Order: sequence, then C-alpha cells, then structure tokens
Amino acid sequence: MHMNYNYNMRNFIFKFNLLLLTTTIFIFSACTKNIPAQTRIYMGTVCTINLFNDGTEKLYAEMFYKIQETEKLFSTTIQDSIINQVNENAGKKPVVVSSEFIDVLEKACYITNLTQGAFDPTIGPIVKLWNISNGGPVPSKENIEKLLPLVDYTAIKIDKSKNTVFLSRTDMALDLGGIAKGYIADQLALIAKSAGIKSALFDLGGNIYALGEKLDKSFWNIGIKDPLNPNSTPALSILVKNTSVVTSGAYERFFEENGKRYHHILDTKTGYPVENDTLSVTIICESSMLADALSTSIYVLGFETGAQILEKLNVEGILITKDKKIFSTPKIKQNLMQRTSLCLCMDLFNRRSML
Ligand code: ADP
Ligand code: MG
Repeated sequence: MHMNYNYNMRNFIFKFNLLLLTTTIFIFSACTKNIPAQTRIYMGTVCTINLFNDGTEKLYAEMFYKIQETEKLFSTTIQDSIINQVNENAGKKPVVVSSEFIDVLEKACYITNLTQGAFDPTIGPIVKLWNISNGGPVPSKENIEKLLPLVDYTAIKIDKSKNTVFLSRTDMALDLGGIAKGYIADQLALIAKSAGIKSALFDLGGNIYALGEKLDKSFWNIGIKDPLNPNSTPALSILVKNTSVVTSGAYERFFEENGKRYHHILDTKTGYPVENDTLSVTIICESSMLADALSTSIYVLGFETGAQILEKLNVEGILITKDKKIFSTPKIKQNLMQRTSLCLCMDLFNRRSML
C-alpha cells in the first residue's frame, strides 16, 4: 500500500513535470521572436510572410489563418466558398455574405466604374470557359459570344441592410481573382501593424507588401521581373518603403495551343485574352487591393488610358511592352533618371525607351 502510494505519487509528479515542460516549451516557442520567414501554398500560389526580428510562431499562425479564412470567401476553386454560393444562386436568390465580402465587391465595382468596364468582377463565366489554369482548350467563338452579355457589373445587386449579394441574371458569376490577393495582403499588413510590427515583407504570388522600412532603416529593394525571362535577373528593381508593389503579367498563368499563348487577363469587350503591346504592369501604392485591381485593369487598357487613371488616383505604375519599352508615371520616371530614392537600377532596359 505504502509502496503503491509512493509509486503513484512519483508517477504523478513525473507527469506533472512533463506537462509543465511541454507547456513551457509551447509558450516559449509561441513567444520566441525571430522565427524565420514562413511559406505556404494558398490561393493556388506561393505565399511567404517574413516578420524578421519580431516574428513569433503565434503571429505567423494568425496571419496564415487569415489567408486561409479569406480564401474561403473569394476562391472559386473551394467548392462551398461564399463566392461560389453567390454564383450558384445567380438569377435565383440573394445570398447572405460577410461585410468583408461586400467591401471587396464594392471596391471591385468602383474599379469597374473607373476603368469603364475594363476590369469587371462579373468576368466569371468567361474565366470558367477559358479554364486557363487547367490548360484550356481554346473555347469556340460562338460560346464566348454567348457568355459575353453576362459580363455586366450593373446586374450585381448589393443590399447592405441585409448583407446580401444577388446576381440578377441566371448563369452570371463573380470572379475576384484580380483583386482578392491584394485585399489579403492589406489584411496581413493590418494584423502585423496592430501587433506592433514595424518591418515586414509579404509576397502572395508576386503580390508584394513591404511594410515599413528595412531593419537598418533602408529601402526595400523589390525586383520587377523581366516578362520575357521571368526566372532570370529582374528587368529592374525599385526601392520602396511602406507600400505594396503588385505586378500583373501575361507570363504568370497561360497555356499554349497551336503555338499561340493564351493568358489569364481577359478583355471584357471581346472575351479573349488581352492582345496588345503590354507584357506586364506594376502598380506601386499603399493599398495592395487597389494595386492588384489596377495592375489587371491597366494591363487591359494599355499605358495611355492607364496613365490618366494613375494620375487621377496619385498612384505610381510601370508598364513593360513586348519590344522592351518601359513606360512609367512621372515620379518613377524622374527617379529612374536621377537614380534617387524611389527607384534605382535598370538592368536590362534602355532608359531612352521610357515615355
Ligand atoms: P494574378 O492573379 O495572376 O496575380 P491578376 O491580379 O492580374 O493576376 O488577376 C488575373 C485574374 O483576374 C484572372 O485569373 C481572373 O481570375 C481575373 N480577371 C481576368 N481578367 C479580368 C478582367 N478583365 N477584370 C476582372 N478580373 C479579371
Ligand atoms: Mg490584379
């Protein structure tokens, strides 16, 4: 009896100590700062978060959780996502959504207004028809023309008092692939800022958010890919602080058929991948959501019309063409010329070719 008591007691103390140790290790690792950058796949793309000296396991986990939860709102590849529920009920009934969903949809519609329809969140049926991410094939002209009238943002009915979205025509579908990643990057910046992070870098498949400045107080050096050789040396690099840098490029997602390339940025007027001189558009501004939507829009519109929009919004942009010309907004152009603060080196491209 006595022996038994002693054994039980020792056993209890041992287990208790073990529990204490594991809890301490857990709390310690959750609080330990300086956890290296973490990368995971979400939204079909590589997402990297780097919180430098201030990264804790807990904060990384919170930020990836935010990505995961937001993906459930906007991803058309997640079967029961909110966007898919809205799409399945097109022409049938309004669907209750979160105010977050309404907020992003309203911002998308604002961009549609601003770009006279070049960017349109109701591009869904055409995106599905092309199935670019899964390699096509090229749809028939007849099918494209049949679906084109469904691209019409005026048929989106938002009721803020009931938090509902209704697509008023059957077979309509939303696609927020041109804006959602930017929204998520902004949300990550908010989380990081409220946790007191002064310096962080997020890269959501090329959608970059450079929070604050580098630890040594210098600028972040962000490379902009050469659209003809996206895996080689960047075409140029820009130095930025506390801003988002988002690029849309024909090289990101595409398939080839009979020697012709079909990419994922679609012309809302024709229903075909945009065919112009543009190869990539980079937008630099604080709001990553705005940068994301504008990079897609200006890819569709080309630089001349795009530049007017950027000027109106006081946003910076760089456009690279098929013949390796670089067009940029005046502030960037000036900085590229003077090699001063905002932008520095241009490696592959000829400066004289700038607008
Ligand atoms: P990525 O998602 O590769 O970063 P973009 O931000 O340029 O590229 O967005 C392209 C995505 O936006 C497409 O995959 C599609 O989902 C959607 N999209 C394509 N064309 C348009 C358009 N004209 N208006 C709105 N969204 C578009
Ligand atoms: Mg975009």
